[in-house]
Amino acid sequence: MSDTERHYDIVIAGGGMIGTSLAIALAPLGLRVAVIEAVARQSTGQPSFDDRSTALSRSTQRMFEAMGLWDDIVAAATPIRSIHVSDKGRFGFSHIDAEEQGVEALGYVVINRVLGGVLQTAMKGVEKVDELCPARIVDIDLVPGSAQVVVDLGDTRQTFSCDLLVAADGANSQVRDMMGIEATKSEYGQRAIIGNLLPEMGLDRRAFERFTSQGPLAVLPVADNRAAFIWTVSEDDAERVLALDDEMFLGELQREFGYRLGRFSRVGKRASYALILSKALRLTATRSVLVGNAAHGLHPVSAQGFNLGMRDVAALCDCIADAAQGTAFDPGSPELLERYASWRHSDQKKLVRFTDSLVKLFGSARRPLRTLRNIGMLGFDLVPGVRSTFAKHTMGLAGRLPRLSRGVPLK
Ligand SMILES: Cc1cc2nc3c(=O)[nH]c(=O)nc-3n(C[C@H](O)[C@H](O)[C@H](O)COP(=O)(O)OP(=O)(O)OC[C@H]3O[C@@H](n4cnc5c(N)ncnc54)[C@H](O)[C@@H]3O)c2cc1C
Repeated sequence: MSDTERHYDIVIAGGGMIGTSLAIALAPLGLRVAVIEAVARQSTGQPSFDDRSTALSRSTQRMFEAMGLWDDIVAAATPIRSIHVSDKGRFGFSHIDAEEQGVEALGYVVINRVLGGVLQTAMKGVEKVDELCPARIVDIDLVPGSAQVVVDLGDTRQTFSCDLLVAADGANSQVRDMMGIEATKSEYGQRAIIGNLLPEMGLDRRAFERFTSQGPLAVLPVADNRAAFIWTVSEDDAERVLALDDEMFLGELQREFGYRLGRFSRVGKRASYALILSKALRLTATRSVLVGNAAHGLHPVSAQGFNLGMRDVAALCDCIADAAQGTAFDPGSPELLERYASWRHSDQKKLVRFTDSLVKLFGSARRPLRTLRNIGMLGFDLVPGVRSTFAKHTMGLAGRLPRLSRGVPLK
């Protein structure tokens, strides 16, 4: 290791959607924070702030409100006033409505690149946050006294020490591996193809989720009367679908979705993502902790990965803010890490299980599951309380909520 040059209270590995949000959320506490991001901000290969659209839940909205960013985000976002859930080849559908849930919107859709612009501007304005980018963590040493982090800056290497190292470097987290935390990974054998198109009829703030034999297809309202789609296809068929010309692509997408929005046209650039469920076996190691996809990588079927990660951020900030009120403040103390891990355990487990069973329930052609899913769809719409519980989870309002998830600033 090279000589230690600087000490930080907190080093965040990964300046994607979650790492950047965490750095901004911590700002009121006045801690010295470093964010280390591997991919240059303006690079087209930036893997977090790309062309995907993300549906922000109500609890994420509250967090951004408490962080003072919501006005900028909502100006570039589209509200969802209802979600229409259907099953291709079956009659009937389920419907979740904002008014029925007593909220203004069930969520807001924002393009990751646009959200990234707001977050990066905000992070630059936080005095005590240093951003190192492009830079990559290549080695760590975790001892009870402090964590050492070796950073590769391209032409040089630097070593920093910190009280707490946060791994926010995504589902394939190398920092998680360096922390000695194993993760289970299972492939869904599916690929999500994303892009946007122009439907004949306006979405009017309605979102659609349609379960097909290949997997779920989501159509979300975005700006300029366009619709963003997240189309899950089987891995075996993905290359063929991606190679289709615009007209053929729209034809196949239309066959899966149907005509409830009229004819689709003017499809934009497509990109694709392999879908994998990943779960870390632990959330903490000595002076270090996992947040976001580094802790749990979900199927996008329920639009929950980022929102769940934001609840990690809210809980970690709550634990740190509480500890900061005491005398011998240490953001990496075993007690603080234990509190964070036990707080996040249940929410993460529930969401991972819920999302995974949704994929399996609605993605299977096997008879017992088909029968179950018919009951599921009916139960979903008719059994009192089921829809409301589902909506509470998707809005991120179930369970004990930390300050930021309630819209309360840290300080
Ligand atoms: C098609 C699709 C649609 C989705 N839609 C939704 C949705 O509607 N709602 C929702 O809540 N979620 C959604 N998600 C999930 C959401 O995108 C992820 O949960 C979210 O991006 C996780 O953010 P993250 O910052 O934890 O990880 P990432 O976005 O993977 O960011 C990790 C960052 O760490 C950096 N990095 C990696 N390794 C290193 C290293 N060694 N050193 C330094 N930096 C490093 C990377 O460059 C990157 O910037 C969707 C996912 C997909 C695939």
